[in-house]
Amino acid sequence: MKRKVLMTPGPSPVPSFIREALSQEIMHHRTDAFRKILKEVNDGLKEIFCTSNPVITAASSGTGVMEAAVCNLFSKEDTVVAICGGKFGERWAEIAKSYSLNVIQMNVPWGQSPSIEELNNILDSNKEIKGVLTTLCETSTATVYDIEAIGKITKEKDVLLIVDAISGLGQEVFYPDKWGVDVVVSGSQKGMMLPPGLAFISISVKAKQALNNSDLPKYYFDLKKALKSYEKDDTPFTPAVSLIVGLRCAISAIKEEGIEARWKKFAKMAQAAGAAAQALGLECFSKRPSNSVTAICAPTSVKSSDIVKKLRNEYGLSIAGGQGDVKDKIFRIAHMGWINEQDLIMCFSLLEKALIDLGYKFKLGVSLARIEEVIYG
Ligand SMILES: *Cc1c(COP(=O)(O)O)cnc(C)c1O
Repeated sequence: MKRKVLMTPGPSPVPSFIREALSQEIMHHRTDAFRKILKEVNDGLKEIFCTSNPVITAASSGTGVMEAAVCNLFSKEDTVVAICGGKFGERWAEIAKSYSLNVIQMNVPWGQSPSIEELNNILDSNKEIKGVLTTLCETSTATVYDIEAIGKITKEKDVLLIVDAISGLGQEVFYPDKWGVDVVVSGSQKGMMLPPGLAFISISVKAKQALNNSDLPKYYFDLKKALKSYEKDDTPFTPAVSLIVGLRCAISAIKEEGIEARWKKFAKMAQAAGAAAQALGLECFSKRPSNSVTAICAPTSVKSSDIVKKLRNEYGLSIAGGQGDVKDKIFRIAHMGWINEQDLIMCFSLLEKALIDLGYKFKLGVSLARIEEVIYG
C-alpha cells in the first residue's frame, strides 16, 4: 500500500486530531449534551465567518446551501445577476434558472476578477435586480474576487449580496459584515479541515427580511425553520452528529492559530506556489491569484491532465486538473485547510519529477529553492 497525499481544492486532508473526534460514539441529538456542542459550534462559526449574523449548519455539500440561498431569498421571476467567471459562478446561474428566476449572466473571462464598473452598469440599467450571486474564490480558475468593491455598490443600491465562500472561507481575507455581504455560503471539505458533508449559510438582517417574501418551494432547506431551531441551539432534522463533533474540534484549532494568521499563512503559500511555477518557466493562470489554490498553465508540449494522472497514479499525489475549456491546459494545486508549507515543497518536488518524465526541461530543484526563499526568507 502506497501513501497517498491529497492536495486537491476539495476534499482536502483531515488531520488525525479531527479524525479522532469524528470517530467518537454517536450521541443522541435531542439532548442537553449535544445542544451544548451545537451552541459552541454556532458561536465559533460566527468567529470563523467574521460575522455577527447567525450561521446555520446543514447536512449537505456546499451546493445544497447555494440552492438554499436562492430558493429562500427570491421569488419566481425575480431578477438576479450571476457573476460567471468559472464553473462555480456558472453554478449560481444554473441554480437560479432552475427556480425560474430571471438571470442576468455577467460573463467574466476565466482567470480574471469581475469588472466593478460593468457590474455597476448592469445594476444601473436594470433597477429590478434583487440580488447579486458571486464567489469569493472561484476555485475553477484559482481567482479571488474583490468582494469589498462589489459590496460597496450593492449596499448603495440596496441589492442583496450573496457570496459563495465554499473554498475561500478561512483562506481569503474576508470581512462580510464590514463589506456589506448579506449571505455567505460555505462547506466543510475545503479550508475547514473536515470531510465533505456539512454546509454553512450566514444570514444578515436584510436577508432575514427577504425570507418572508420568497414564494419558491422549499422544505429541507427552509431557512426560516432552520433559524427558529438555531435560536434554541437545535436543528429541524437529524444533524450530522459526528461531523459536528469534528467541527467543534476544527473550530478550536482554527481559533487557536487565529483566522487572520491563517489568511497570512495561506497568502504566503500562494505566493510561494506562484514563484515556484515561474521558476519552472510556467505561468500562473489567474490574473488575481487566490490564497486557496494555485492554477498553473502546463508547458505547451504537455497536457495538464497527463501531469495530474502521472502524479496520482505513480506518485500517490492528488492535485486537480482544469475544468471546461482549460481542462488540458491548467493544473491546480490546493493550499488550504490542513495543507502546509512542507506539503507544498513535496508537491513541487514530485511535480518536477513528473515534468521530467514527460520530457519538459528545466534546472532540477529550481522550484524548491524558490519556495524556500519565499517561506523561510
Ligand atoms: C467546491 C466548491 C463548490 C461546490 O461544493 P460542493 O461541496 O461540491 O457542493 C462550490 N463553490 C466553490 C467555489 C467551490 O470551491
